[in-house]
Amino acid sequence: MKTVDQYNFRDKKAVVRVDFNVPLDKDFNITDDTRMRAALPTINKILRDGGAVILMSHLGRPKDAYDEKYSLKHIVKHLSTLLGKPVRFASDCIGDFAKSASKELKMGEVLLLENLRFHKQETAGTESFAQELASLGDVYVNDAFGTAHRAHASTSIIAKFFPNDKVFGYVMANEIANINKVLNASEKPVTAIMGGAKVSGKILIIENLLSKIDNLIIGGGMSYTFVKAQGGKVGSSLVEEDKLDIALKILKDAKEKGVNIYIPTDTVIADAFNNEANKQTVDINAIPDGWMGLDIGPDTEKKYAEVIGNSKTILWNGPMGVFEMSNFEHGTKAVADAIVAATKNGAYSLIGGGDSVSAINKYKLGNEVSYVSTGGGALLEYIESGSLPGVEAIEK
Ligand code: AMP
Repeated sequence: MKTVDQYNFRDKKAVVRVDFNVPLDKDFNITDDTRMRAALPTINKILRDGGAVILMSHLGRPKDAYDEKYSLKHIVKHLSTLLGKPVRFASDCIGDFAKSASKELKMGEVLLLENLRFHKQETAGTESFAQELASLGDVYVNDAFGTAHRAHASTSIIAKFFPNDKVFGYVMANEIANINKVLNASEKPVTAIMGGAKVSGKILIIENLLSKIDNLIIGGGMSYTFVKAQGGKVGSSLVEEDKLDIALKILKDAKEKGVNIYIPTDTVIADAFNNEANKQTVDINAIPDGWMGLDIGPDTEKKYAEVIGNSKTILWNGPMGVFEMSNFEHGTKAVADAIVAATKNGAYSLIGGGDSVSAINKYKLGNEVSYVSTGGGALLEYIESGSLPGVEAIEK
């Protein structure tokens, strides 16, 4: 994999796609600058080499036109503080503003271009727009893992204009290396823990994982579709009636591939979908009418902790229950604790995709697992298909 480490940026202007899609409050203060901090090592490497940096990013979801609310001008000051140097700003990412700003840019300087998504050509992946962006620099760096699953102008199409001068930034390289540690794991047993609301969004991921893992642990809302498919009584738990066949097929495929599949045996049920509801623990196949399963039960927790404890490689995506409600977070917390314990014993653990990341951060355990992925959709799509448009564009 060609990264910024294998490229000398001396006297080069680097067009760097970063993910500065940070949350802003109503006064345009950045409420979480994690993504900006993540890009600093790549930017600093280019500057250290003696190059210049032209940063491009999207912010929010503007409707294909200028919208002050989504202007990247709001983050210039903070970026400059983080880098410890002034940051220039071009009030459009293409056209005369961008051209003259990049022309005037000296080596050692940093320029931030205005929000790419003020132009609809960005998400459309329009070639002429990508070419205009490309004309601003000598080398292309992609460090935006969070958008690497999109074939947008700045994340993928642009790469063709730099046949010999395109490399991955550290964020991208790190994410890919970590996912590959799971997908090509030599340290067995490999265990994937899949939770979250629905099975529908995760069918392809599960199917693709079956050839790579030894254990598949199922939790969260999707469990009840598996339980019902096998003839259990699930009350008013979340069930995808049109996915019962698929649940059975997953069970069959797992068996054929020699994967141990674990479905919860007991569950914490509630008589309403709120934290104050009455609750009790029951056999997952015997949920009374009017009650819904909102968490895994203690027997399941124990079994799952045992399987996780015996694993050498662990992937976790999706909570075991409605962890946002304190009365139904116990199972999710137990799985997080088991992963931390396994990691301490030498297992490699990757947490990725949306709500399991929120969960691990809620319990402040992010530093006690091997890796927490920054790219939800991108991570899941990489697991599903084994590559991403943003990755292929550079490797091609
Ligand atoms: P996902 O985005 O598919 O990973 O789903 C995450 C969401 O699933 C979280 O907001 C959880 O509250 C929710 N969830 C987990 N378990 C259940 C359940 N048993 N019933 C309903 N929602 C659930």
